[in-house]
Amino acid sequence: MKTAFELQTYKSAVKPTWCPGCGDFALLNALQKAIHALQLEPWNVVIVSGIGCSSNLPHFLSTYGFHGLHGRAVPVASGIKLANPDLHVIIAGGDGDGYGIGLGHTLHAMRRNLDVTYLVMNNQIYGLTTGQASPTSEKGMKTKSTPIAGVIENPIDPIALAIASGATYVARGFSGDVKQLADLVQKAIEHKGFSLIDCLSPCVTYNKVNTYDFFRERVYSLEKEGHDPSDMKAAFARAIEWPVVQHERIPLGLFWQAKGVPTYEDLEPALAKGAPAKQSLGLEDPEELLKHFL
Ligand code: SF4
Repeated sequence: MKTAFELQTYKSAVKPTWCPGCGDFALLNALQKAIHALQLEPWNVVIVSGIGCSSNLPHFLSTYGFHGLHGRAVPVASGIKLANPDLHVIIAGGDGDGYGIGLGHTLHAMRRNLDVTYLVMNNQIYGLTTGQASPTSEKGMKTKSTPIAGVIENPIDPIALAIASGATYVARGFSGDVKQLADLVQKAIEHKGFSLIDCLSPCVTYNKVNTYDFFRERVYSLEKEGHDPSDMKAAFARAIEWPVVQHERIPLGLFWQAKGVPTYEDLEPALAKGAPAKQSLGLEDPEELLKHFL
């Protein structure tokens, strides 16, 4: 009989170093709850990150992890998934990492519908480098890098961008609601195809505008308002409610899901014979292997 994994199984001995109250705690908590609910084998889960406060996350789970370079989590995750599609590959990072430096990689992984889950802890600021404007900082917001006129650019709209780019599961969660977040993460991992969760994750130290209270006054549930996530037009209409076009109400929940769309792994001929990582090279003898490469 298969042994059930305890929640504790997924927690590592390394304790987070985030500031007390940081929104990233909630996402970590939600992710642990989700993989526990799914009873994923820890050795078949890989968490990949780039650089930033939130990118420290792989250290706090007792799964496999890869803490890489700034903005390069997606290519590393793509390589892992293509080498062994049987793994659950989860990317975790911040808005600067995923929507700024790594945005090109993010968009291409979406259009390929690679079967990975991307969790973006969006705090609308660069926290690790002590408070510069990020790609999702609100227009007019004064930061260390925009001290006089504030931010003069429009923020990225990650939800609309993801729907338009081919992601097949697109949702937004909030660190103030771990239960909903864990549910969204669980469904994202279960989804076959590229899943993005934009998590509103307040930086309590450097972003004094987009606080827990700011969000609590504005968020509402898409599900409670009867939104149909299989309706792309309706998903776009909800997506643009925040942060670019309107600013009063912020939708939470599942915006868009397309089921049954082939993934990149389904279509890639090189994977027809199964996971490359599990195939024999016919070079198990170390001497032979050496000769092969010399
Ligand atoms: Fe979290 Fe901000 Fe502290 Fe970084 S600086 S750990 S994002 S609260």
